[in-house]
Amino acid sequence: PFDVLVVGGGPAGASAAIYTARKGIRTGILAERFGGQVLDTAAIENLISVPHTEGPKLAADLERHVREYEVDIMNLQRAEKLIPARHEGGLHEVVLASGASLKARTLILSTGARWRTMNVPGEDEYRNKGVAYCPHCDGPLFKGKRVAVIGGGNSGVEAAIDLAGIVAHVTLIEFDSDLRADAVLQRKLATLPNVQVITSALTTEVRGNGEQVVGLTYKNRNTDDLHEIALEGIFVQIGLVPNTEWLRDAVALTPRGEIEVDHRGETSRPGIFAAGDATTEPYKQIVVAMGSGSTAALSAFDYLIRLPEE
Ligand code: FAD
Repeated sequence: PFDVLVVGGGPAGASAAIYTARKGIRTGILAERFGGQVLDTAAIENLISVPHTEGPKLAADLERHVREYEVDIMNLQRAEKLIPARHEGGLHEVVLASGASLKARTLILSTGARWRTMNVPGEDEYRNKGVAYCPHCDGPLFKGKRVAVIGGGNSGVEAAIDLAGIVAHVTLIEFDSDLRADAVLQRKLATLPNVQVITSALTTEVRGNGEQVVGLTYKNRNTDDLHEIALEGIFVQIGLVPNTEWLRDAVALTPRGEIEVDHRGETSRPGIFAAGDATTEPYKQIVVAMGSGSTAALSAFDYLIRLPEE
């Protein structure tokens, strides 16, 4: 069995594996896709001390750094179930989609998150052809064009404010009758001349010409009337979904599915730690995920050295 099994190979998991391997304890890392969300990212300019890198390059750098150590890397493996140890200090079991299972004295859960999608016709077809999820990454592609932002929470309103400085016009579409973003963001939004806000609106379709997005259709939820807007880009900002479905009741999750962790990365279950976007740690960013990965790793090590000899 492993001393530490890291589940998830994004920035949090890579950081955790390096920290535990450097303690000389038996470390494994399991990932459906080594690199994680970073693989889907273009330019990255806020990884401190690296002024500019690109997603695939950072993913390769993460893997190269992990390979400097004696870490068992199991890529393209999906965890489907966690069976916690029956007694403290016992072995936790992770069951894989392949049917195999892995055992470890401690676990570090770092399975990250994914963008919530609208699930409407055209969204998948026009992804990266006008449908985008990351304003920081793709905003500049729509310079001088018309875009919509879907979602009036903090991330949607932040995206609208950000994009208004780049694009010609922003239509912000909110499902509820009011925006849910912080008041200070809403006040800022209201000062921008090229932003229109539409509330009580449900996006029903992404429309395209076979190559590119040309507009969207929404339903006015008060009247049920359908309306069309002509535009070139749609930024979907309706939340991040943690990849924690596989955990079921193994550790405590929030109603939104985030793994509850304390400031040491401890979950509700002794010997199981967690880090990164899958957890309650605020601010879903690469440096934050790396930091919490190292915290969880050091906490796992502290836990192991306190276990009585078998
Ligand atoms: P993830 O990167 O999500 O990695 C999760 C890992 O777990 C992956 O290896 C995945 O395959 C694996 N996994 C998931 N489920 C399972 C399972 N059941 N079994 C096994 N493995 C599993 N942050 C910045 O700081 N700067 C940026 O410029 C930036 N741009 C971004 C642009 C885009 C398009 C996106 C999507 C994100 C961006 N982010 C950026 C956010 C950043 O990528 C995340 O905060 C960071 O990747 C989180 O790291 P993580 O290790 O917690 O999770």
